[in-house]
Amino acid sequence: MASQNRSRLYHAVCRECPSEQVFESADAADAFVTRHVEETAHTALAERVD
Ligand SMILES: [Zn+2]
Repeated sequence: MASQNRSRLYHAVCRECPSEQVFESADAADAFVTRHVEETAHTALAERVD
């Protein structure tokens, strides 16, 4: 696959509550995850959406 023109989205989601959000950069998604984990001690993760 040589197609790299699609915008990349990052989906940050918590496994322990309904909190989730979509970001346009990995840094923003990571920041959301880090902050959510610090604030709630939940288990959250960020994954790329292709
Ligand atoms: Zn949560």
